Amino acid sequence: MPVLVMKFGGTSVANIDRIRRAAKRVGVEVAKGYDVIVIVSAMSGKTNELVNWVGEISPLYDAREYDAVVSSGENVTAGLMALTLQEMDVPARSWQGWQVPLKTNSSHSSARIEDIPPENITAKFTEGMRVAVVAGFQGISPEGRITTLGRGGSDTTAVAFAAAFNAERCDIYTDVDGVYTTDPRIASKARKLDRIAFEEMLELASLGAKVLQTRSVELAMRYNVKLRVLSSFEEQSDEAGTLVCAEEEIMESNVVSGIAYSRDEAKMTLVSVADRPGIAAAIFGPLSEAGINVDMIVQNISEEGRTDMTFSCPTDQVKRAEKALLAAKDAGQINYHDLIADTDVAKVSAVGIGMRSQSGVAAKMFKTLSDEGVNIKVIATSEIKISVLIDRKYMELAVQALHDAFELDKSA
Ligand code: ADP
Ligand code: ASP
Ligand code: MG
Repeated sequence: MPVLVMKFGGTSVANIDRIRRAAKRVGVEVAKGYDVIVIVSAMSGKTNELVNWVGEISPLYDAREYDAVVSSGENVTAGLMALTLQEMDVPARSWQGWQVPLKTNSSHSSARIEDIPPENITAKFTEGMRVAVVAGFQGISPEGRITTLGRGGSDTTAVAFAAAFNAERCDIYTDVDGVYTTDPRIASKARKLDRIAFEEMLELASLGAKVLQTRSVELAMRYNVKLRVLSSFEEQSDEAGTLVCAEEEIMESNVVSGIAYSRDEAKMTLVSVADRPGIAAAIFGPLSEAGINVDMIVQNISEEGRTDMTFSCPTDQVKRAEKALLAAKDAGQINYHDLIADTDVAKVSAVGIGMRSQSGVAAKMFKTLSDEGVNIKVIATSEIKISVLIDRKYMELAVQALHDAFELDKSA
């Protein structure tokens, strides 16, 4: 029988009623003749609670124990979903990551999926089981420890299963009815897109649009998984939601197709470092070894052989970054006068494959922000995106102003 993957995010399984509603959706697909793999998230708020507990006990925690704790929310919903389906007379059972087994590498808290042998689940389907409910976000390392795939990782579990089982489609059920031109929660004029290209979705996700985890989009692109985002709160037709697909499958699109933002950015400045060959390597080498995801980098003009080096990284990595830089300083590898962490910043980005062929997007973006009196602290560009770092208090204003300036409420 054809296989369908259906993933339900935290708000879609937030309580027993919602689990029942999601199970009904699954029942509809089973009735159509699909063998269904359901990927579930933890109930909304649960993972945050678990993460906070870990942080309270141990600020620089052992990542293996962090994973043991934060993966547990998904175990609960997987069991509850399987029970709900059984109550509806749908043959179903739950699977934790290690039981599948979903094999990952050993990068705890941001592990990458290495293999999903389909045999165990396929054997059950052959015996008449119709739904495999799999706990999202978790796997098992070569050392036999539980791993997690990074926040939002259930999306990636879903796409990886769709690829491993050659599923007809991977449906991501969430609390919005598709991918929008920007987060509909902060811009009321945001418009739902019927289709979005993999490359654009990849940029939007990596720049903060948390509707899909970045890695899930990468996998969908690589394995050509038919990926759809839709609401678990509304009755859905086969055409509902947003299809994430190849560029060629999209007839027309705006130059800028979306605006993304990320609140969780910090700007770190090393004040007065020696401006000599190898200094960037001496700074960013230890940061990379400490697992810091450095994003934007600027080096100021040098004066009397010394310069300031500024970079951005996720807010929750600031402490680790400080520790790594201090260790490098103590070891005599680098020398700086001061290290300033500014955690009151946010990143706002414009994304669109149309930028490849049309110039003037950056100029328009900077003019729009300047008209709103928003100061730009750092700029980064690539072929299809422009990002700026600004004071966090202007983030919403900037997103709305850019959405207006690029007329994203109107389709191409
Ligand atoms: P789930 O719990 O289902 O995984 P998430 O909270 O991870 O859901 O992702 C859905 C949320 O993503 C939406 O509620 C919305 O606020 C946010 N979001 C951010 N950018 C976008 C966008 N461009 N389109 C749709 N939703 C977006
Ligand atoms: N529960 C995990 C999180 O909140 C994984 C997910 O929902 O995708 O990050
Ligand atoms: Mg999510």
